Amino acid sequence: MPCSARRTRRRAWPPSSRSAPAIGRGSKMARIAFIGLGNMGGGMAANLAKNGHDVRAFDLSQEALDRAKAAGCLPAATAAEAISGAEAVITMLPAGKHVEAVYTETVFDAAEAGAILIDCSTIDVDTARRVAAAAAARGLTAVDAPVSGGIAAANAGTLTFMVGGSAAGFERAEPFLSDMGKAMIHAGAGGAGQAAKICNNMLLGATMIATCEAFALAEKLGLDLQNFYDIASISSGQSWSMTSYCPVPGIGPETPADRDYAGGFAAPLMLKDLRLAMEASASTGADTPMGRRAAELYEAYVAGEGADKDFSGIIQTLR
Ligand code: NAD
Repeated sequence: MPCSARRTRRRAWPPSSRSAPAIGRGSKMARIAFIGLGNMGGGMAANLAKNGHDVRAFDLSQEALDRAKAAGCLPAATAAEAISGAEAVITMLPAGKHVEAVYTETVFDAAEAGAILIDCSTIDVDTARRVAAAAAARGLTAVDAPVSGGIAAANAGTLTFMVGGSAAGFERAEPFLSDMGKAMIHAGAGGAGQAAKICNNMLLGATMIATCEAFALAEKLGLDLQNFYDIASISSGQSWSMTSYCPVPGIGPETPADRDYAGGFAAPLMLKDLRLAMEASASTGADTPMGRRAAELYEAYVAGEGADKDFSGIIQTLR
């Protein structure tokens, strides 16, 4: 059962003497290993350092390590060196194969018995469940904590975390997550964070395409698009894709559409999440025709002009 609906940011470390890990108990500053310092991890590690933690950072890329050093982290020569002695181990890696390899080859052997293991990457549910089970078999506490919010939210420390794992794991991860985000939601047992993330993003992919189609049709019917927005944004067709991330330039709040679809949430990442949703649909036997169609349309968009565009740029193929 989820142990909390929603937490807000900035709780003191440790959260309570009952739930604090053995290492560093009583100290606000914690020693944290951070593995994967890319577009997202770089900003997240920097926020942990900014909040007074001793962040031991590791990435395969020297450039990423240099950026982490400039942001106040201590670069480590190996993942094991970063993890040894850390009370929290945080990973932010590209995909399930990277997470499983880093956990099985390094984290499980190098982590302290009392450390909390937090994977913030977006990965497939089956791998997340396997990693959680392998951690539990070794007496370690692991949670999956994928994020909502892109690079800007990672840099600003305003991410939302969807957390899968035990109630105790959630309690122990929460103080670290609160130094990188604005909301932490316990979604259920190990893998539930990933499940919530891909269901949310399947919904987002489908509603973005539906919003784009509606604007394209409205245009062909001769409607003024600002006028259509004024109507639909307060009517039953309203959605986040319309009112917070409008795919039409010059309408609604400032969005990637106003920058020729640069920045924001890259179309290839939306495609990655839709593929994960389709894998989950196949493995559970769920019928997700809208998600499947969204995945097909994003496959085509990313293979063509959408390879380096924001996901809302798919409207250009529909207008
Ligand atoms: P990225 O490719 O920029 O960063 C990944 C980093 O991991 C790279 O620096 C890479 O060198 C490093 N890495 C890979 N294998 C490693 C290993 N074995 N050991 C150490 N480091 C290793 O990716 P990103 O955009 O930061 O995304 C990370 C995760 O966050 C992905 O799962 C992605 O789906 C998810 N995500 C991204 C966004 C976004 O807007 N970029 C938003 C939400 C979630």
